Parts: sequence; structure tokens; C-alpha cells
Amino acid sequence: MKKITMSVAALSIAVMSYGQTTQCKSLTKDSVQCKNKTTQVLCYLHNPNYNSNSNIKATICIGTTKKGRKCKNKTKNVNNLCHLHTKKD
Ligand SMILES: [Zn+2]
Ligand SMILES: [Zn+2]
Repeated sequence: MKKITMSVAALSIAVMSYGQTTQCKSLTKDSVQCKNKTTQVLCYLHNPNYNSNSNIKATICIGTTKKGRKCKNKTKNVNNLCHLHTKKD
């Protein structure tokens, strides 16, 4: 099992190094778009799965409620949106 975990980690590192960098899609506390570059949708700060080998930390959902307040739900989703704010295709 350890071997599988290692190869998955190596693979994701390889994929990340090949990918083109784009600007992180997440927002900072001031609701400004994050300026970190990332090969994924979210930078390491905003992507809870960035170092997924160890413990995945839940982050606060970046969605807003109907009243325009920040959602307080915690999420482990890559898009930083809780189950309420994750749009299903
Ligand atoms: Zn970011
Ligand atoms: Zn939410």
C-alpha cells in the first residue's frame, strides 16, 4: 500500500510540474482574487488537497449566503465550496 501512495504522490508532482501556471481562482479575505500562481485551479494556500498525503484540513467555504454574508460551512472540496454552494452540473 505504501508503494501505491508513493507513486500517486510522484505522479501528481510530475503532473504539476508539466502543467501551465494560472492565477489562483480563489479570493483572499478582502475578496480580491488571489495572486498566487498555480498549476491547478487553486494555489497551495487555497487548495486543501495540495498536500493531500497527510491530513486534509477543512477550510471555510468561500461561498456567500443569500444575505451576502460569508458561508460558515467547512469544506474539504478543492473548489473551497461546501455542499450547499457546490453547483452540480
Ligand atoms: Zn490562492
Ligand atoms: Zn457554503
